[in-house]
Amino acid sequence: MAALVEKAPAKINLTLDVVGRRADGYHDVVSIMLPIELHDTVRLKESRGLLPGEIMVVCEDPAVPRGRQNLVYQAARLLMEGLNLKPGVGVEITIEKSIPMAAGLAGGSADAAAVLRGLNRMWKLGLSDRELQKLGSRLGADVPFCLFNRPALARGKGEVLTPIRVKGTLWFLLAKGPYVVATAEVYRRYDQMEVKSRPRLIPMLQALEEGAVSRVGALLCNVLEPVTTHLYPQVKELKRLILSTKCPGAAMSGSGPSVFGVARNEDEAREAADTLLASATTPIWQIVTCTIS
Ligand code: ATP
Repeated sequence: MAALVEKAPAKINLTLDVVGRRADGYHDVVSIMLPIELHDTVRLKESRGLLPGEIMVVCEDPAVPRGRQNLVYQAARLLMEGLNLKPGVGVEITIEKSIPMAAGLAGGSADAAAVLRGLNRMWKLGLSDRELQKLGSRLGADVPFCLFNRPALARGKGEVLTPIRVKGTLWFLLAKGPYVVATAEVYRRYDQMEVKSRPRLIPMLQALEEGAVSRVGALLCNVLEPVTTHLYPQVKELKRLILSTKCPGAAMSGSGPSVFGVARNEDEAREAADTLLASATTPIWQIVTCTIS
């Protein structure tokens, strides 16, 4: 049987504000989020070699969890149980991983969203985008955005999404050191911290709408950045390095530790990436350029 292929784009947060704690353990956020070109590829294939309804997760990267621990498994299971489906065959889910893990780029959520989208197509379930997003929010706060897959203002725990206008193509450098960050730990520490600076939402929305890249750069702001920086001072150093290029701004994405710089155009993005790769004394930076998909 032919495989169905879904692109699973990563996200970055241009702004991230945490505005409250919720009874369900999540936090209320207000965030401007963009899907970027960097993506995993998820392949879905029905397999008679598996038991009916069985889900097999395949991934070459040994760090990616197999079986139930993988969000793609949970996505397929949720769809089957939520809709009371009884497929006559099993489903094989192959993940080609390009998004760094536990990086603040929503890699797992992107893969889960790709599975919900893909199985909805493969099994002709006819679920609307909104229905998929509602289901997806049970898997994780970023899954609805990954299904939405357009620049958005996210509120609530991340599931209340409003499309936003972005003029032109934005270019980013993305970098991540060789350390992982536990999102829950960052939020726990955030709750004990005093916040010194918060995003300015309206000016940022205006700058995006006008394609004013320098202003976008100046307005990047993530309230979780001081927390992760405290745990990993290297995050601050990475940001300093990016700001030493022509990039007008840089910030951490999500709970980190990925840091991105916004560039004025493709040439400046590539030039900055080359400079950073050449100047880093230890090969700890992973740098890619990406556009909004
Ligand atoms: P979060 O903010 O939800 O932690 P993140 O973008 O920082 O997201 P992910 O790449 O989604 O990080 O990985 C977080 C954890 O999720 C990993 O450490 C891994 O154990 C688990 N995980 C489950 N499924 C996947 C998947 N398909 N790809 C990557 N990680 C996955």
